[in-house]
Amino acid sequence: MTPDSPVATVFGRSTTKRKAVEDGLGLRTVGELLHHFPRRYVRTTELSEDVTPEEGEMVTVVGEVASSQLKTFTNRRTNKPGHRVEVRVVTQGPEFTATWFLPHRTMAEREQARMAVGSRGLFSGKVQRFNSRWQLAQPHVVIFGRGDGEGGPDETLAASLKGLMPVYPLTAKLYSWDLQKTVAVALDLVSGVEEELPEEVRGRHDLPDVMTALRWIHAPDDMDQVHAARRRFRFAEALVLQLVLARRRAAQRSLGAQARTGGQGRLLEHFDARLPFDLTAGQRKVGAVLEAELARPHPMNRLLQGEVGSGKTVVALRAMLRVVDSGGQAVLLAPTEVLAQQHHRSITAMLGDLAGGGMLGGAEDATRVTLLTGSMGRAQRQAAMLDIATGEAGIVVGTHALLEDEVTFFDLGLVVVDEQHRFGVEQRSALTGKASSPPHVLVMTATPIPRTVAMTVFGDLETSVLRELPAGRAPIATHVAPLAEQPHWEERVWQRVAEEVAAGHQAYVVCPRIVGDEQEVGESDAPADPDSGAEGAAPRAPAQPLTAVEDLAPQLRAGPLAGVRVEVLHGRLSPEEKDTVMRRFAAGEVDVLVATTVIEVGVDVANATTIVVMDADRFGISQLHQLRGRVGRGGLPGLCLLVTRAEAQTPARERLAAVAATTDGFELSRVDLEQRREGDVLGADQSGFRSSLVTLRVLRDERTIVAAREEAERLLEADPDLAAAPVLAQRVTQIEASASSDYLEKA
Ligand code: ADP
Ligand code: MG
Repeated sequence: MTPDSPVATVFGRSTTKRKAVEDGLGLRTVGELLHHFPRRYVRTTELSEDVTPEEGEMVTVVGEVASSQLKTFTNRRTNKPGHRVEVRVVTQGPEFTATWFLPHRTMAEREQARMAVGSRGLFSGKVQRFNSRWQLAQPHVVIFGRGDGEGGPDETLAASLKGLMPVYPLTAKLYSWDLQKTVAVALDLVSGVEEELPEEVRGRHDLPDVMTALRWIHAPDDMDQVHAARRRFRFAEALVLQLVLARRRAAQRSLGAQARTGGQGRLLEHFDARLPFDLTAGQRKVGAVLEAELARPHPMNRLLQGEVGSGKTVVALRAMLRVVDSGGQAVLLAPTEVLAQQHHRSITAMLGDLAGGGMLGGAEDATRVTLLTGSMGRAQRQAAMLDIATGEAGIVVGTHALLEDEVTFFDLGLVVVDEQHRFGVEQRSALTGKASSPPHVLVMTATPIPRTVAMTVFGDLETSVLRELPAGRAPIATHVAPLAEQPHWEERVWQRVAEEVAAGHQAYVVCPRIVGDEQEVGESDAPADPDSGAEGAAPRAPAQPLTAVEDLAPQLRAGPLAGVRVEVLHGRLSPEEKDTVMRRFAAGEVDVLVATTVIEVGVDVANATTIVVMDADRFGISQLHQLRGRVGRGGLPGLCLLVTRAEAQTPARERLAAVAATTDGFELSRVDLEQRREGDVLGADQSGFRSSLVTLRVLRDERTIVAAREEAERLLEADPDLAAAPVLAQRVTQIEASASSDYLEKA
C-alpha cells in the first residue's frame, strides 16, 4: 500500500464508510486519509473531574451512561408523536441529563442502543440548569467503549487507545473511531511515504521525520508527541510556501528593468519645493528606499502598508514623478471610480502648472495627468488612450478600465496599485504586462496587515511600513449607538450631526444600501466586491430593512436635518454626477453626504469631522476602520458613530466594540483576521496559495512562518533548484504550476 492507493484499500468491503470518507470528507487516497488530522484529543482513561458547568456555556466531558430512557410523547403543536432519548451521564464531577428529540421511533431506538448503560464517551453541548439538574440538549457524542473495558465499538480500537482519543473532523455516517481504526491500519501497512524535509533541516529545527510525525498525530502517547508532530507539518507547509515566494522574489530580482534615476528632469524637485507640509520621517525614509530601488536595473516590487491617513499617496506620487523625470510613464490603479477621480483631482491640484504639460501656461518640465475610467464617454476615452499611447501623459490614473487590452503605454516605468485589497495578483500582472520591459511596482494596502500576513499573502513583495500619522492629526472618538437597547440614540445622532454642521463642519452618513433592497456592489467598472457589505453579518429579520441612501436622505432633509445641505453619493449615479457631488462636498457646498461604501477607501476631505455608519453591523472590521479614516484628517477632532440594531452580546456587537475600542489599524486587522475564516483573507485571488494552506494559520504560526522564511532563503542560496531535496523541489514546482495555471484560467 502506498500513499497513492485508493482509500478502498483500507476500507475493504464496507462501502457506506468508504463512500462517507470519499464523498463526505473528499479523501480519495491513503495519503489524503493520513493527512486528515484529528482536530483535538480527549483523555479516555478517566471520567472528567474538573468540570464546572455554567449556564449557557459549552462543555465537553468524558462521561459514562448511568441510565437511559426512551419516551414517546405527542407534540402539542403538530399533534404528531415525537421521541425523546434521555440519558444520565456521570462524571467524577457533576452529573448531566442529556436529551435528544428524534422524529422517528427507529432513529430513537438506534440512538438509545448506541448509548447503552455503561458506555463511555465524549459528550459535548450547551449546558442548562433545569429542575436543579444540569441538562445537555442534543449534545454531540462520541462513544468510545465501555467503562468496564468489555465490548465497545471495536476491540482493536480499545487496544490501540493509549489514553488519548483523537477526535477527527467528521461527516455523516462516520464515527471518530471508524477513522481511527482505518488510519491505524493504513499506518501499519503503508510504505513509501515521502519525506520532503531534508535531514539537516529537521535537525536544525528539531522536527520528527514524516512517519514518526504521522504516528504521533494519529495515535499519540501524550500531548508532547501531538505538539511535535503538528509543529513538523506546519513547518513543512510554511517552508514550501516560503520557498515558492522566495523563488518568485529571486526570479523578479533577476529580471532586467529600466533604471529610473531621474535623469535631467526636475518635476520632483519642483513638487517638493511647493509641498504645503513637511514629509513625515517615515515618508522620507520610504521615499529614499523607493528612489534607490527605482534607480536599479531590476524591477522594484514593494508593498507599502500604512495606517489609514498616513499619507501613502504623496509617497507614491513622488516615486511617480521620479519616473516621469526619467522619461517614463507612471500609472496609478484605484479600486473605485470615486477614488480614481479624487486622485486625479488632487494630483492635478498638487502639481498645479507642473501638470500643464503640452498646454499653454504649463511649466517647463510639466507633464500631463490623464484619467481613464470605464464609464467615460467614447470620445473622452479615445482621447485619454491616445495620450497614454503617445506618452503625452506622464501620469495616468484610472480604474479597472486600465487593464483592458486596447490600453497601451508609450513607456510604462512604474505601476502603483492603490488599496490593493480590491485587486488580485492577476490584475497586477495585467497591468505590468503593458510595459515593454518589466516595470517597477508599488502596491499599497488599504489598512495595515499583520507582518505574517504580509509575508504570506504578499510574500513575493518586499515590505515598507508607514507607522506615524502626519503631525497635527486629531484623535477620532468612536461610539456605538445601540438602538436595540437605546432607541432614543437615533435622535441624538442627528443632533450631533446638526451641531457639527452648525460649527461649520461636514459629515458623512454611510448606508449599506442604495435604495430599498438594492445593495452597493462596487461601481460600474469594478467587479462585485465580495468584501463589501455583509461579511460575517448576522441574518436579520425582513421586518427590519437595511437603511438605504435614497430613503434616508429625504427623511433627513424633511426632519432632523432640515435646512442642512444634504446630498447623496452611490454607484448608480453617473460618473459626472459622482464627480460633481464629490467636488461640491470637497468645496464645502454640501454639508452632509449620504453615501454607500463608495467613500470607503481613500476619500479625503479635511473639513469632514463626523461619520455616521448606519447598520454598522453589516460591515467588516477593516471596512469600518477605513470608513472611520475619512474623518479626523484636517487637524479637527473626528467623531465616528456606529449605529446598529444588533442585539447586545452578539458577534456583530463585539466587532463594533472592537472598532470603538482602538484606532490602531494593526491591532484591528489582527482581530479581524481572528474572527474571519483565514481562507477569506488569504484569498486565492490575492495569493494563489489558498489551496496549499492546510494546517498553517498565519496569525498563530508567526514564529514558524518567520523560521520557514529564513530556512527557505538559506536553502535556495546554497541550492537554487533544490537539487539536493528532490521531494521538496517537487512540492514547490507543484504549487508554482498550479498558481500559474490559476493565472491562465483567470486571464
Ligand atoms: P492614506 O495613507 O490613507 O492613503 P492619504 O495619502 O490620503 O492617506 O493622506 C491623507 C491626507 O494627509 C492627505 O490630505 C494628504 O495630503 C495629507 N498628508 C500627507 N502627508 C502629509 C504630511 N507629511 N503632513 C501633513 N499632511 C499630509
Ligand atoms: Mg489612500
